[in-house]
Amino acid sequence: MDETARAELLGELRLAVPSEDLLFNVPMSRYTSLALGGPAEMLVEVSDDGQPAEILRIAKRFNVPVHVIGNGSNLLVKDGGLRGLALHFGDKFGDISEPATHDGAAYTITAQSGALLSALANAAADAGLTGLEFAAGIPGTVGGGVRMNAGAYGGELGNFVVNVTCVDREGEMASYTREEMQFGYRKSRLTGEIVLYVTVMLRKSSEDAVRVAMRELNARRRDKQPLTMPCCGSTFKRPQGRFAGELIESCGLKGYCIGGVSVSEKHANFLVNDQNGTAKEYLELMEHVQRTVKKETGIELEPEVQIIGEDE
Ligand SMILES: Cc1cc2nc3c(=O)[nH]c(=O)nc-3n(C[C@H](O)[C@H](O)[C@H](O)COP(=O)(O)OP(=O)(O)OC[C@H]3O[C@@H](n4cnc5c(N)ncnc54)[C@H](O)[C@@H]3O)c2cc1C
Repeated sequence: MDETARAELLGELRLAVPSEDLLFNVPMSRYTSLALGGPAEMLVEVSDDGQPAEILRIAKRFNVPVHVIGNGSNLLVKDGGLRGLALHFGDKFGDISEPATHDGAAYTITAQSGALLSALANAAADAGLTGLEFAAGIPGTVGGGVRMNAGAYGGELGNFVVNVTCVDREGEMASYTREEMQFGYRKSRLTGEIVLYVTVMLRKSSEDAVRVAMRELNARRRDKQPLTMPCCGSTFKRPQGRFAGELIESCGLKGYCIGGVSVSEKHANFLVNDQNGTAKEYLELMEHVQRTVKKETGIELEPEVQIIGEDE
């Protein structure tokens, strides 16, 4: 992009976004739980629901790519970083409504997409609503959770969704019911659309019962997962009828490392950045694990982590 076009682009962005929310050359290691990855050329902290559509329209006019970032807990950004614009949905777009009821037994809560799943699960618990106990320990946002159909211990976010409000890449608003969202194992219909609001429906229980279940599931998580290490949760999806962690462990790969990244000793499907590794090393480790598991067991492991950005 030449100097004049860039100045015009910045001029338009500055009209659409408060200056403190438009950042430049932002290391993505600060925005991802893997704590690695190169910088985003420009990053917008989204703070109102009109901004994404406006920014998408500007980006289209200037032919600039747009990336969507939630809590970065399932993201591997390559070392060359992100060209163009990253839209970050975090605290500034993280409101959660009070529960509303229609019949006294089922309640709906609507969250902005930057709200953390744990905050939504806790809001539900405060109101004695059951359903989202499984989500209390998943470190993503509501938007990322819907895109990935986040799930654990038999629960999936998609099962509780009533409605998802999105903006498509042309800047048009769209609203989808649960059926229209086509939720499946770690997937939904969303490819490019950006989630703005999610409404879930939960049933009345008691706060105590919900808190007990949440505590129990979080303890199981702490026991099995290396939660204090930079990681992205499960690196690979569960292959049909098997567990990726068991397959990787059966190949003797626990503790195997490349540069600053390694296969966790605690849970083999968690590849962790324990020694200040790079995205290149992480991708090499992923490939090594995939190759070894394929050779030893015949099973192809498919990444769950979303890989974006440019090589260095
Ligand atoms: C320690 C740990 C434990 C984990 N445990 C689990 C688990 O038990 N179950 C599970 O399912 N996952 C788990 N994860 C992975 C991760 O937390 C989930 O995939 C989560 O849903 C990702 O949400 P996020 O906001 O961090 O999304 P990001 O990582 O920021 O993004 C993931 C994808 O969602 C897209 N996205 C993000 N926000 C939006 C939006 N507003 N609109 C449209 N697309 C969007 C991104 O573009 C990207 O494609 C774990 C991760 C860690 C680090």
